[in-house]
Amino acid sequence: MNCLICKGGKMIEGFETYFAKLGDSYLIIENVPCFKCDQCGELVFSLSVLEKLEKLIELYEKVQSKIFIVDYRQAA
Ligand SMILES: [Zn+2]
Repeated sequence: MNCLICKGGKMIEGFETYFAKLGDSYLIIENVPCFKCDQCGELVFSLSVLEKLEKLIELYEKVQSKIFIVDYRQAA
């Protein structure tokens, strides 16, 4: 799979940390499976991963805290 952004890069399968801002809070999800461009660093998540991330964001939006750090492998 080639990168859609820079066209030249290759998408390498790996794990990345995902950041989301929820109002005044931050959600950090570690070890999210993704593809990363080896040239420009563009990240692509699969649809099933994105759906899971959305569910996690919904879940943590309801909790009043400043920063959450979640490990994807334990939350998924
Ligand atoms: Zn790229």
